[in-house]
Amino acid sequence: MNERTTWDTLVVGGTVLTMEPECEPIPNGAVAVSDGRIAAVGPCEQLLEQAPTCEVLEATDSLILPGFVNTHSHLAMTLVRGYADDLPLKEWLEKRIWPVERQHMNRDTVRLGTELAIAEQLLAGITTTTDMYFFGDEVAAALETVGMRGMVTEPLIDFPTPRCATPEEAMDKQRELIEAYRDNPLIFPSIAAHSPYSVCAANLVKEAELAEEYDVPLQIHLSETRWEVDQLISEKGSSPIAYLADLGVLGERTIAAHCVHVSPADIEILAANEVGVSHNPISNLKLASGVSPAATMIEAGVKLGLGTDGTASNNTLDLLRDAQLMTLLQKVITGNATALPARTAIEIITRLGAHVLGLEDRVGTLSPGLEADLICISTKGAHATPIYDPFSHLAFAARSADVRHVLVAGKLLVRDRTMQTMDLESIQARTKEFATSLAG
Ligand SMILES: [Zn+2]
Repeated sequence: MNERTTWDTLVVGGTVLTMEPECEPIPNGAVAVSDGRIAAVGPCEQLLEQAPTCEVLEATDSLILPGFVNTHSHLAMTLVRGYADDLPLKEWLEKRIWPVERQHMNRDTVRLGTELAIAEQLLAGITTTTDMYFFGDEVAAALETVGMRGMVTEPLIDFPTPRCATPEEAMDKQRELIEAYRDNPLIFPSIAAHSPYSVCAANLVKEAELAEEYDVPLQIHLSETRWEVDQLISEKGSSPIAYLADLGVLGERTIAAHCVHVSPADIEILAANEVGVSHNPISNLKLASGVSPAATMIEAGVKLGLGTDGTASNNTLDLLRDAQLMTLLQKVITGNATALPARTAIEIITRLGAHVLGLEDRVGTLSPGLEADLICISTKGAHATPIYDPFSHLAFAARSADVRHVLVAGKLLVRDRTMQTMDLESIQARTKEFATSLAG
């Protein structure tokens, strides 16, 4: 007797890249989705035979791979995209960004900016994101409503934020967020302390203790600028990384954004403590912070993922663009054209990014049993002809606008570049109204 299988969706016809270690591309492949998870991966003909009545999502002339994982961002900052450019980090933050945030960022505007960020990311193939912005519960609600996966928090900093008057209040909000979302399949709560220069030692330690108590990640900006490193060395006598290590703050739960100015000793500390580094190359270029030695960190055994950072310092949430620039930059700063090759770049925005967030058992590969977060990237364009190696194509030629379909937890959120679970036009119209009020 011919055994029939019941699946919810069968994505068929493209070249499948599972992104498992050593995976080989499967031409004319298919991915079966059942109950929001990957049920099977294999040649199209074989899977169609197993489930002839399954709902089929056509992906001919596409690459089918896991959705991208953005390991660092400030989502609602889409509202200030292009509002303050061509400034160094400290001046940019203190004179332009923080004053606007104090005046204009509230629950409603954070929701609006986050919704825009969700659409922008999904349309760029990002299925898991990481947020470090205020009103974390609103961010979580926005993600959940649309159906996108994401890590959320309520960031702590030693001065009043648009949400919290004191660091203690931020800690309370972090606890509430964790209690509310700790068992949610889409939303992953986390702790976030802004940076070693904006949070005192006592609060840094308390934050690390909270992360340990709840067994959730701890996000922090770390060694982003030369100014920060010089400041910590003059105040504390050690580099920001050594300082956090001495406080006992660094560990496998840490997601350290940037790590641009790192010494060989710092890299050893990051590797020994199993810290996850979120490399943000475009933001670091735009604010003239520098170029992180990402390839050297990977060689030293540091877990490394990629982040867009917020759109005020990028100015897009286009992780593929960051990945492409990352590999080119690593080649030029090492003087070695073999540094950070194409396949590694794509691993960094899929499987390795998931590892940085501690989500490697859920997303990052198209492995049976994992969440069905997958994207189909069209290979019909002139710039996609020919393709000798799909990894090379993704790392050096593909565009995020080639993303056709996007599924998160088996749910189709983007079909043929159209958002299925939100009204993007109305969000864009409201964002333009916000921008008009800000500019006026
Ligand atoms: Zn950041």
